[in-house]
Amino acid sequence: MNQPLGDISPEEFTDAAEYLTEWLSSYLSKESFPEPVLSQMEPGHILSQQPSNPPESGTTPRQILEEFESELSCGLTHWNSPRFFAYFSISASGPGVLADFLSAGLNQQAMLWRTSPVATELEQVTLDWLRQAMGLPTPFSGVIYDTASVSTLHALATAREMTLPDVRMRGQAGRQLVVYCSEHTHSSIDKAVLMLGLGWDNLRKIPCDENLSMDPAKLAEQIKLDREAGLHPCAVVATIGTTSTAAVDPVAAVADVCDAENVWLHVDAAYGGSASLVEECRPLFSGWERADSIVINPHKWMFTPFDLSVLYLRDMDKLKQAFSLTPEYLRNEEQGRVMNLMDTGVQLGRRFRSLKLWMIFRCFGLKGIRERISYHLDLARYFGRMIEESHDFELALPVSMSLVCFRWKGHSDDEQLELMQRVNQSGRFFISHTKIKDQMVLRCAIGHIRTRYTDLDLFMNELKSLVDSPVEASPCS
Ligand SMILES: *Cc1c(COP(=O)(O)O)cnc(C)c1O
Repeated sequence: MNQPLGDISPEEFTDAAEYLTEWLSSYLSKESFPEPVLSQMEPGHILSQQPSNPPESGTTPRQILEEFESELSCGLTHWNSPRFFAYFSISASGPGVLADFLSAGLNQQAMLWRTSPVATELEQVTLDWLRQAMGLPTPFSGVIYDTASVSTLHALATAREMTLPDVRMRGQAGRQLVVYCSEHTHSSIDKAVLMLGLGWDNLRKIPCDENLSMDPAKLAEQIKLDREAGLHPCAVVATIGTTSTAAVDPVAAVADVCDAENVWLHVDAAYGGSASLVEECRPLFSGWERADSIVINPHKWMFTPFDLSVLYLRDMDKLKQAFSLTPEYLRNEEQGRVMNLMDTGVQLGRRFRSLKLWMIFRCFGLKGIRERISYHLDLARYFGRMIEESHDFELALPVSMSLVCFRWKGHSDDEQLELMQRVNQSGRFFISHTKIKDQMVLRCAIGHIRTRYTDLDLFMNELKSLVDSPVEASPCS
């Protein structure tokens, strides 16, 4: 007889889990920095190394995990390294990882309250804690999705429902809806407009001032023009903490325009939202309590393993109005008395994502979370000062939140990119770039839970030694 049917044995599970726990525990500890931070794997390496046919017979989980380490870890880019400074630096903290492990074992699917009362109610509890922590008033309540892109898609679909209440039956029926954002808004807005079938011709990118913030007077002007042309202004997206430079739109002034024009205001605080937990950053958020919807990603700067995005709505019923639809086989007697998460979006099934955020709140406490975010703000200012004081580098913009945008002084755009490539090839750090005001700029994004002052000292030394060595033509260009 071959292996008995059914799952692996409890002994095999325990043996593999112990191996995995030890491996992760060392991976997640301060002493062992995973390097290279940016994977240096050649494209196609794993494709060619793995067998092209499915394995006919099984292997023990322990052996498979060992093979993962020896054969596949070269394909890891280490997002969980304290020296990952590219894009936005995120972290899977210990409590979050443990919660995800538990969640996988429990396999909760929270489409209806009854299919997981705990996932449904813990999501409400945790998101209300977060709402209070961010200083948002009570009418706001939240729902969890995977990413900000999906949160924003749901926000704009709700705005469409409010603008055209018969859209569910008639579709747009020739009516042209218009969405407004700034030149520096995240591409997820373009994608949401695409998904909703609104057409990019109806997405207005409002010009920004020298701080890369949306000009509210130009917004008001454009909405007027569109109304006069018989179009239907549908939603404005303001950003607190843009992806490129952590710029902040003047949300209060934008909210004035939205109020006057009766247009939905969606605030994208996917990255920046976490800074609202810290008192010193609150002024940046002034006016966001007047938004109709707000997105914030705890998986960015709140130590939550990817993925977990939260959409807050001032009126949750509007989201339900846009999305609820109950087929007969899902009707149940508690309907009307409970939250059924399937009513809040496109997907029917839901993962138990709130468990990791709940675990993080419980383990660090709100105080601990706030202290960690404050510390990152200090680290960013510290690195910003080092840049200003060095004669090789200069700040491209004032430090905003935990993001430092800098340039190699007196060097061309190509040389900025060459320097970045050298940093990333060295394997000790990983940074990324952006283009602002027609200039290439390097970004150092801080936000990993284990980053310390010494990591930034070492990074500065690395930059200095790389600019001191002669710059060769980059091998990849
Ligand atoms: C990262 C980011 C997004 C997209 O986040 P996903 O969760 O990956 O979809 C949207 N907006 C802003 C401002 C961001 O920084």
